[in-house]
Formats: sequence, C-alpha cells, structure tokens
Amino acid sequence: MDIYSGHINKLIEELSRLPGVGAKSAQRLAFHIINMPEDEVERLANTMVEARGHIHYCKSCFTLTDEEICPICRDEKRNHKVIMVVEQTQDLAAYEKTGKYEGVYHVLHGAISPMLGIGPSDIKLKELIKRLEGDVDEVIIATNSNLEGETTAMYISKMIKPTGIKVTRIASGVPVGGDLEYIDEVTLLRALEGRTEL
Ligand code: ZN
Repeated sequence: MDIYSGHINKLIEELSRLPGVGAKSAQRLAFHIINMPEDEVERLANTMVEARGHIHYCKSCFTLTDEEICPICRDEKRNHKVIMVVEQTQDLAAYEKTGKYEGVYHVLHGAISPMLGIGPSDIKLKELIKRLEGDVDEVIIATNSNLEGETTAMYISKMIKPTGIKVTRIASGVPVGGDLEYIDEVTLLRALEGRTEL
C-alpha cells in the first residue's frame, strides 16, 4: 500500500531521477514543492520548460547557450587561437570563474568510455577537428582526470599531433577521479599554469 497519494509518489519518483538526489532528498523536495504557493511552483516549472526549450549548442564551441554563438566565442578580446577542450559546460563555467583564462573553449559533451559504449563519434570530436582547420596555436586538454577523461585526452592528442598544433594537458593538480566543476579556482589555475605538452 502506498503511504502517499499517487501524485506525491510520482513527484518523488521524478525528482529522485535527478543526479545527486537520493530517495530522502527527493521526498524532502517533493514536500517542499507541495507546500510552496501555487504561483511559485508554476514559475519554477515554467523556468525549467523554457530553459530546456531555448537552450542549444553554440555553433562554434558547443557550450550551452541562448544564442547561436555564445558570448565567449563572440568576444573579440579573447584569444581564439587557444582552445581549451572540456567535457561539459559546467567545466567551462569553472574555468571562467577563475577569470584568468583568455582563450576559447570546446565542449565535448562527454568522454570516451569503452565500458559505457561511448565512442569518439558520440562526443563533439569531429567538430573539434573541423575547428582546427582554422588558425589555432594550442589545444589545451582539460578533460577530467578519471579513466574516461584520460582516454579522451590520449585520443585527442594522437588525433591532433600530425597537424603540428601544440597539444597540452592540464597538470594533475586536479585530483584523480575529480570532476572539474567541484574543484576550487586556485587548483584549477595551478592545473592550467602547470600544463605540459603532450
Ligand atoms: Zn561558443
């Protein structure tokens, strides 16, 4: 027998599918939402639907943006000859928060993982190669330092080497298995400054 009504159960179930939300948090969130004024719930729901509907990939770097070309790619003051390759938009956000990186980015939207059946063609690698046909001095690989991130870094490095473009990897100041988005800015900067050529 269900303890709660069907609607509450459904809400808890949907919320518990979100990353980092366990059964207990889902339950707490569900009751919080149910106790919120109706207009606030509506605003929250609309914001989610609108965000999902309006956001797409930047045509150049593939980060998530409202516009065709994101503000970073549009910024002429940035160094468009240096491209930092990251796995997710959140990683880009982490480096942007340091305020010290002046190049542009390329967001892969994942990492190569033979175990999960994610191959090179499942992430934005072809798109990266296409960008390298332009004027590029350096590609900084800033994928996570877990198995998938390292596999991806190796793959990209091998792919770029023949072009003669400099390929670097951020230093391992980033803890093994660490997600870039959770690492503090000082560590990120140190990792960037200590990058080594591959
Ligand atoms: Zn962009």
